[in-house]
Amino acid sequence: MEYRRLGSSGLKLSALSLGSWVTFSNQLDRGKARALIAQAFEAGINFFDNAETYANGESERIMGDVLADLRLPRDAWCVSSKVYFGAHEHPAPTQKGLSRKHVIEACEQALQRLRVDHLDLYYCHRPDADTPIVETVGAMDTLIRQGKVLYWGTSEWPAEAIAQAADIARRHGWYGPTMEQPEYNLLHRERVEVEYAPLYSEVGLGTTIWSPLASGLLTGKYNAGIPAGSRMATPGYEWLARRMGTPEGQARIERARRFTALAAELGAPPAQLAIAWCLKNPHVSSVILGASRPEQLQENLGALALSSQLDAATWARLEVAAA
Ligand code: NDP
Repeated sequence: MEYRRLGSSGLKLSALSLGSWVTFSNQLDRGKARALIAQAFEAGINFFDNAETYANGESERIMGDVLADLRLPRDAWCVSSKVYFGAHEHPAPTQKGLSRKHVIEACEQALQRLRVDHLDLYYCHRPDADTPIVETVGAMDTLIRQGKVLYWGTSEWPAEAIAQAADIARRHGWYGPTMEQPEYNLLHRERVEVEYAPLYSEVGLGTTIWSPLASGLLTGKYNAGIPAGSRMATPGYEWLARRMGTPEGQARIERARRFTALAAELGAPPAQLAIAWCLKNPHVSSVILGASRPEQLQENLGALALSSQLDAATWARLEVAAA
């Protein structure tokens, strides 16, 4: 495993990490989640990503039980949560968003579900237009001073809002955002490569990127329709399948087809190639993997070796194919 600094912080995360969106609770029960986390830790993964909203808190309960049950040394791994969407099907107005009340209470609840004393990373899962940024930054600073959070960050915030949060923190002498969690893959590049570009040096921003396979599209598994047992066939995720039926979705499938055809020509598993491509970006601190089966995780871990094997001309060809 390779370890990378989270932006300009001293925290070293594994370049590949493991998330639980869709998988924990929906596809993996405690036993299967336990096997996956054990496999990941054994391979050197030290960051496990979660959120209050994943399976309405059940994903955090499963992860907390598993991490406790495995008895892995607490100082050898990091766990995250994210606040914004709430942990209920129909959250009350105070059970969602980035108000001081919800940020503090959601943290307490995540700590209980994950069975830990502190969250290593805590994200604002989306921007909240109804809460002044100063209120959210102040709440995050409070949690850090209370020892309940070690690093806080954002997820899918516009660059301008991140810069504003960093500036507010600087002016008040508060802890500012350390990391952002954006979508980043061969089909979705703009934000990480262009919009956030000034923040890497100005704020020292790290990134823990999500959906490196575009929800599985870049494996080629959807090239000829929706296979049984896949994410898009999972109850509750029909919206993903519907999105695939739109003209934009069809264009994405077409790009995935071209990418996987070139992967076949190169003789490399497309999933490994797509993940290795994300790793190539030095502003990516960690690529968060998703896996519904141990074989998928095993295959995807192979991306580490592949990332140093291809030359610039081959990467450029892959980018053109996926464009
Ligand atoms: P990916 O785009 O990598 O998709 C993972 C899914 O693709 C797997 O669950 C599996 O789905 C399929 N898959 C993975 N590897 C293979 C393989 N080798 N062969 C075939 N199929 C494969 O990542 P995710 O979308 O899961 O995102 C990763 C993590 O990022 C999440 O768990 C979460 O922690 C985080 N995230 C954060 C978001 C945010 O807003 N901050 C939003 C989304 C995710 P299946 O087998 O079911 O088809």
